[in-house]
Amino acid sequence: MKNILVTGGAGFIGSHLCTRLINDGHHVICLDNLFTGAKRNIAHLESNPNFEFVLHDVELPYETDNIDEIYNLACPASPIHYQYDAIKTIKTSVMGAINMLGVAKKTGAKILQASTSEIYGDPVVHPQVESYWGNVNPVGIRSCYDEGKRCAETLFMDYHRQNGIRIKIIRIFNTYGPRMLPNDGRVVSNFVVQALQNRDLTIYGSGQQTRSFQYVDDLIEGMVRVMNTGDDFIGPVNLGNPSEFSMLELAEKVIKLTGSSAKLQFKPLPHDDPKQRKPDITLAKEVLGWEPRIPLDEGLKHIINYFRNY
Ligand code: NAD
Ligand code: UDP
Repeated sequence: MKNILVTGGAGFIGSHLCTRLINDGHHVICLDNLFTGAKRNIAHLESNPNFEFVLHDVELPYETDNIDEIYNLACPASPIHYQYDAIKTIKTSVMGAINMLGVAKKTGAKILQASTSEIYGDPVVHPQVESYWGNVNPVGIRSCYDEGKRCAETLFMDYHRQNGIRIKIIRIFNTYGPRMLPNDGRVVSNFVVQALQNRDLTIYGSGQQTRSFQYVDDLIEGMVRVMNTGDDFIGPVNLGNPSEFSMLELAEKVIKLTGSSAKLQFKPLPHDDPKQRKPDITLAKEVLGWEPRIPLDEGLKHIINYFRNY
C-alpha cells in the first residue's frame, strides 16, 4: 500500500484517479479547494478509511512527511473556468507546482504533472509529437492556462535536474466522461447537456476545427502506467485518443445518440481557439504498451447516461 497525494482530486479526472488508486489498495489523500471540484464526485469514497479529503489551496505550502507518490492535477481546465480568474489560474499552476515539488523534495516522493496538449497552442505540426515546442500566444486570453502549464513543466524539469526529484510529465489531450460539470463549458458536456434538453447545440466558429476526444477511463489507465515506469522515464508523454473529429461531426454524433430534436446554433469563435489537435501517441505505445480502447461513440453513450441521471 502506497501513500498517494492527488491534488485536484475532487475534480472530474481527479475523482476517477482517486477511485482507481483506492481500488488498487492504496491510501489516498485528496487535496482540493473545490473551485471546480465537488464533494459529490468523491462522495462514494468518503467512508473508505483509506481515503482522506483535505480542503487546501495548492497556492499555499502543504506540510506532510510521509508520501510515496504525488499526482498534481489541481488547476481549472475548462476555458470558462480558467479565464474566470486568470491570475488565480496561473498562480495555481506555478505556485501549485512549486509547492508540490517542495513536498516531493522533502519526502522523496515521485511526482507526476498533469500537463496538457494546450502547451502546443494552435499547432502548426500535426499530429502533435512531444518534441514539438508549440505555438502559444503569450499574451492572449488562453495564456494564463497555457503558459502556466508550460512554466509548470519547466519547474518540474528544473527540480529534476537541480534536485534529483523523480518526475513524470504527461500531456493530456481533450478528455471527457462522467463527473464533468453540466456547466463545465467544454464542448462534449455542452453538447450532451444541450441535446438532452432539446436546446440547440452551440457551435463556435464554423465547427470545422478539430479535437481528438479521449474517454476518462483510458486516460486513468495511462496515468497509472506512467507513474509506474522506472525513474529513467520522465516524459513528457502524450496521453490522448488519436481519432480526430470536427465539432460539426461531434454535434452530429451527439444528436444521433441522444435522439434529440436539437439543431445547430453558430456562435463566434473564441480568440486563439486552436484549429486542429491530435496526439501522436507513438511514445506512449512504445514505453507503456498503452493505447486508448474506448471509441467516441461508446464513451459518448456513458456520458449521455450520466447526464440523463444527473
Ligand atoms: P476539473 O476542473 O474538473 O478539476 C480540477 C480540480 O482542481 C478541481 O477539483 C478544482 O477544484 C481543483 N483546483 C483548482 N484550483 C485549485 C487550487 N488552487 N488548489 C486546489 N485545488 C484546485 O478539471 P479536469 O478536467 O479534471 O482537469 C484535471 C487536470 O487535468 C488539470 O490540471 C487539467 O489542466 C488537466 N487536463 C485536463 C484535460 C481535460 O480534457 N479534461 C486536458 C488536459 C489537461
Ligand atoms: N466549442 C464549441 N461549442 C461549445 C464549446 C466549445 O464549438 O459549446 C468548441 C471550442 O471553440 C473548441 C472545441 O469546441 O474549438 C473544444 O473546446 P473545449 O473548450 O472543449 O476544449 P479546448 O478548446 O480547450 O480544447
